[in-house]
Amino acid sequence: MKIVYGPVASWRLGRSLGVDLICSPNKICSFDCIYCQLEKAEKLTAQRDLFISIEQLKDELKNALEKTTPDVITLSGMGEPTLANNMHEVVELIRGLTDLPLAILTNSSLLYDKNVQKTLRNLDIIVAKLDAPDQELFQKINRPASGITFEKTLRDIKELRRGFHGKFALQIMFMNENKNYAHELADLAKEIKPDEVQINTPLRPCAVEPLPKKELDEIEKAFTGLNTISVYHSPKPMTDPLDKLELIKRRRMEP
Ligand code: SF4
Repeated sequence: MKIVYGPVASWRLGRSLGVDLICSPNKICSFDCIYCQLEKAEKLTAQRDLFISIEQLKDELKNALEKTTPDVITLSGMGEPTLANNMHEVVELIRGLTDLPLAILTNSSLLYDKNVQKTLRNLDIIVAKLDAPDQELFQKINRPASGITFEKTLRDIKELRRGFHGKFALQIMFMNENKNYAHELADLAKEIKPDEVQINTPLRPCAVEPLPKKELDEIEKAFTGLNTISVYHSPKPMTDPLDKLELIKRRRMEP
């Protein structure tokens, strides 16, 4: 399995060259979201570990950058990328190879780890997940690994945001379970003060029905005063993936 894949046509990031820090055929994540498009987690864990080789990444990324010019490089993966305990070395390597903006898609659950926060502060774009306004819905929607709570996750998102000088986006996935909590989530977003709120609903095949455009448009109104983008109103760019098979393996990941 290759570490570098894409470029992916992302409605939030443009032509995004993915770096998969987990690179496992099966998902390894600290959440088991009810709307996840990946198979059930091989491992539900908050324990950081080593998944990819820096040498392999160096070869693949150099090769990819000779063949394609993406808008952004995105740390993502077959699960939660901050679980990779060599994320700091990965960031250093990428910074040494290219001046392209560096982004991450994270579920925000490992931000209690000061090393994770320190590394994330070196990125240009952070897209942090927040789907629930309280512990009950957090448990119901995100089904986190043991020890991860709503209260601590929210506290850590706020702390990271305060110390981050790049673009900080909050991603919220709306579905039937949380569609009546848009105002509560908007209030939390106002406390977090992101540069952008990404209003999403699971459009790819998964166990949860997406909300129709009309409902998502209503939800977006609750976020008036914040800078929002919505999946229904954000066209995807054209891309020409380097390796279609590698992309298909990860097609179920949210870009
Ligand atoms: S949607 Fe993302 S955070 Fe949630 S279980 Fe899937 S990979 Fe993990």
